[in-house]
Amino acid sequence: MTAVEGLTDAQIALSDRYGVATYEPLPVVLSEGRGAWVTDVDGNRYLDALAGYSALNFGHRHPALVAAAHRQLDTLTLTARAFHNDRLPGFQRDLAELTGTDAVLPMNTGAEAVESAIKVARAWGYRVRGVPDGRARIVVAGGNFHGRTTTVVGFSDDRSAREGFGPFAPGFDRVPFGDAGALAAALTDDTVAVLIEPVQGEAGVIVPPGGYLAQVRRLTAQRDVLLICDEIQCGLGRAGATLCTELSGVRADLYTLGKALGGGIVPVSAVVGRRDVLGVLRPGEHGSTFGGNPLACAVGSAVCGLLADGSFQELARAHGAHLGERLRALPGLTAVRGIGLWFGCDVDPAVGTGREVCVELARRGVLAKETHGATVRLAPPLVITHDEIDLLADTLRAVLRDLSG
Ligand SMILES: *Cc1c(COP(=O)(O)O)cnc(C)c1O
Repeated sequence: MTAVEGLTDAQIALSDRYGVATYEPLPVVLSEGRGAWVTDVDGNRYLDALAGYSALNFGHRHPALVAAAHRQLDTLTLTARAFHNDRLPGFQRDLAELTGTDAVLPMNTGAEAVESAIKVARAWGYRVRGVPDGRARIVVAGGNFHGRTTTVVGFSDDRSAREGFGPFAPGFDRVPFGDAGALAAALTDDTVAVLIEPVQGEAGVIVPPGGYLAQVRRLTAQRDVLLICDEIQCGLGRAGATLCTELSGVRADLYTLGKALGGGIVPVSAVVGRRDVLGVLRPGEHGSTFGGNPLACAVGSAVCGLLADGSFQELARAHGAHLGERLRALPGLTAVRGIGLWFGCDVDPAVGTGREVCVELARRGVLAKETHGATVRLAPPLVITHDEIDLLADTLRAVLRDLSG
């Protein structure tokens, strides 16, 4: 690793000696966070415009979430599902009520939630739809990101995500995102589900054409195919609604949730949706040592509490309108895509790469992350203020101007 201000030579040596370089972090070393701000080991402060890829929708150490975690740490943290715990039923109710669903399967990470939804969809296909055993197929979208497990990267079309990791699980058909005709053509008698991100985050905040999700819903309903919406990144307030699909007037059969569900404190994910679908799982068929643990449930319930009155969703819409207006006025960007408080900004190649912009932003006290080379993803915590959004936009404007020479 090259020198990073804030890491001692000894720490860099440790990282080189024991670390596995699966990331290329920006050269900042963070040691503290509160709200929309983080502080590095030298005391420099940064506005966090990434928010842990939306795992920190409520900011760092939101007092209500930290208090819930503290209370639970002082009572019971883990039981495994071999026993009941007194927090899980309440969490399941809270998340079901928040999302308007009637069954909740708790897991830990997003990828696990997606894997769980895939298992549920296949079992439903065989046991309810009567698809011949071993034949179930799931339609996915080009440019998808659903996590890093082998099954999930197997149906990705991102070379760096999949190359070298095969062989991959069969049973997936990929169609272009946003093309309802292609999706219709891909549905067969063996198709049990369509798995889709309502807005693709990792791909660069790609919002599909208006009416697309509603068409997908209509097509899947006609063929008795499950619609599984992966709202791990777009859900829980980020897009300006509890569920991003609400904005299209669509109800999925299953949703995968994660990231913000853990309040930035612990990994918490879940599959939520129709009871008659999730109910195909029988005891012993699926599980997780940590899924539904009391600490996760306490934090998850507190997250549901924060989202219950709609004020964070409203903040995402209001702040997003303001940030979008500011971003669209910036020279040096070739495109600005967004929904809620969530934007993908394509940097004009004549100005620089997404990485260069992010390095410069960090030097000036704003943290963001590039995706797919030219895109800078902005997803600040929903607790950001109007003035902080102006600071973010002003800083980006200065960076783009200075890089342009
Ligand atoms: C982050 C993400 C995942 C994977 O979540 P992990 O917790 O990293 O496993 C899955 N789907 C989407 C849409 C995501 O953004």
